Amino acid sequence: MKQNGLKPIASFLIDHTKHDIGFYLTTIQDISGRKVYTYDLRFRRPNQGDYLDNAVIHSIEHILAATIRNSQYSDLVLYFGPMGCRTGFDLLLVDIDYDAAKDLVIKSIDRCQDFETLPGATAQECGNYQEHDLARAKQELIRYKQIILN
Ligand SMILES: [Zn+2]
Repeated sequence: MKQNGLKPIASFLIDHTKHDIGFYLTTIQDISGRKVYTYDLRFRRPNQGDYLDNAVIHSIEHILAATIRNSQYSDLVLYFGPMGCRTGFDLLLVDIDYDAAKDLVIKSIDRCQDFETLPGATAQECGNYQEHDLARAKQELIRYKQIILN
């Protein structure tokens, strides 16, 4: 189905009524001979009235981005950021397949537990530096990790 003459993007082809919390590979794109993997880190079941709040999302964005970008794969991380629907995050990695990516996320979540202060949380470094909740972000990450490990 085309809308406005545009092809639907891959994430719109996922049936969000059947989508559950988890770690998913959404697409693999071949870009100049490299594979770009888009992963869906789904923290909440879509459309169930239970969404992440923005302070938690924002702190997860800071701490998980910091740990993923400081991993052994730092040069292969294209993007990590929240979904506008507040149910999860997108992670784009180059040449890192599902098992390695999931392992990276789990190890990065563990490293997030060591943060006592939030990285990048000054007015110079962040666009809304007062809207954060580090403690609940860490709890949310542990909850997510336990779900994707099972
Ligand atoms: Zn920020």
